[in-house]
Amino acid sequence: MHELAPVSPFVALAYLIAGILFILALRGLSSPATSRRGNRMGMIGMAIAVVTTLYTHDIASLPEIIGAILIGGGIGFVIARRIAMTAMPQLVAAFHSLVGLAAVLVGAAAFLNPGAFGIVDALTGQLHPASRVEMGLGVAIGAITFSGSVIAFLKLNGNMSGKPILLPARHLINLGTLAAILGLVAYFTTDQSPWIFWTVTALSFVIGFLLIIPIGGADMPVVVSMLNSYSGWAAAAMGFTLGNSAMIITGALVGSSGAILSYIMCRAMNRSFLSVIAGGFGAESGGAASGAAAVDRPYKRGSAEDAAFLMSQADSVIIVPGYGMAVSQAQHALREMGDMLKKEGVSVKYAIHPVAGRMPGHMNVLLAEANVPYDEVFELEDINSEFGQADVAFVIGANDVTNPAAKTDKSSPIYGMPILDVANAKSVLFVKRSMGGAGYAGVDNEVFYMDNTMMLLADAKKMVEEIVKALD
Ligand code: NDP
Repeated sequence: MHELAPVSPFVALAYLIAGILFILALRGLSSPATSRRGNRMGMIGMAIAVVTTLYTHDIASLPEIIGAILIGGGIGFVIARRIAMTAMPQLVAAFHSLVGLAAVLVGAAAFLNPGAFGIVDALTGQLHPASRVEMGLGVAIGAITFSGSVIAFLKLNGNMSGKPILLPARHLINLGTLAAILGLVAYFTTDQSPWIFWTVTALSFVIGFLLIIPIGGADMPVVVSMLNSYSGWAAAAMGFTLGNSAMIITGALVGSSGAILSYIMCRAMNRSFLSVIAGGFGAESGGAASGAAAVDRPYKRGSAEDAAFLMSQADSVIIVPGYGMAVSQAQHALREMGDMLKKEGVSVKYAIHPVAGRMPGHMNVLLAEANVPYDEVFELEDINSEFGQADVAFVIGANDVTNPAAKTDKSSPIYGMPILDVANAKSVLFVKRSMGGAGYAGVDNEVFYMDNTMMLLADAKKMVEEIVKALD
């Protein structure tokens, strides 16, 4: 192992404090009630880490760094303020791609000018073997994160079809490429020729692309959190190259929390982690099933007044929000509706599916923004058995997460995913704009055509506002 540059105890302490604050931030973010505090802890930790780094790295030019922070921070600030909540997943994917690219650039800089990074062996004049492993792995993970995130961005943003793109013999190609990358990183420890470094980088860009194009259907949530994890590991590997413990700690925290989140989401989707990474879930059926939505089938259509009457007569209403609620920003009107129903003595609960919306926790964030009390919000496994006793399931802009095809149709792209059993409620009110619009996975939903379902076809916010008026 090469020696890292000696670090002053104050710097080590500052980084340790930053690391502890990051851990407390993650702890806080694990519950909606403490998430704001968690966020603040993370911001303070990051401020301490940035200031300490600026203070200690006397080789760098401060005006240049501050200039770069102002430009990058300014762009990030404007984008984050302007971005619609529904476009958050693609923004996150875009940010991950930048983390990956940064890791590649740091690795390349260290390779081209190792003296500046203090990673040259004084005896041999060559790179330390340990640095070569860190550099090789960091660049590989960074490049995979970059190209994978770009594809995820294009898919989530609708610039590329969300359907899986399946190459023949893809598993073989992927395994071969991965083996070549690992083999070359190992060889790099014995021979530091530039072609090895650049081949690892190029192959990693390719494998990132190949790993993400076959993933489609409803598996994108797992991909987003997986790329989040990769970006953390890329940063941690670069932390070793730079000899920066704050980066190692932060990268490892992001890497492991992203991996845990991916695992939780896989469990929520009833997928095996390995099969999602290998790609192509639901590939055989996505296209065929989506055509079904356009077929004319009888259904019942209701008005805001009908819905208001039905709910005001109910003992219990379970609200199921989904992506459409986020699109129309109906959460505030929805809370008002919930408050009015509660005044009439109706029990109101919210049921959240783990992949409702377009990012993990999407619905929780929106409901918290509208000040919906946390004790009215339930996760799938805690509320699913209650639909059988509920008078009304009020589904607002959700589709895939309520679709019984996930249980019954083996050819469906969402087959195997647990769903919210809204069909078990006495009545189902289903808010969406049209009968034609399918959900993310592009499949029709049997619940629309059930005898106990009333379709409320309108923009979610408008419909809820009209229901509120009718309740008044
Ligand atoms: P869906 O995408 O299945 O359905 C959304 C529904 O909202 C559609 O039926 C649509 O119908 C309706 N809708 C859209 N806009 C409006 C509007 N303005 N007013 C009223 N209705 C509207 O959403 P779900 O939340 O049920 O499921 C999430 C899906 O997204 C899952 O398949 C999940 O795998 C996937 N996903 C989840 C991610 C995550 O991390 N949570 C990330 C990426 C994907 P219409 O057009 O007719 O109005």
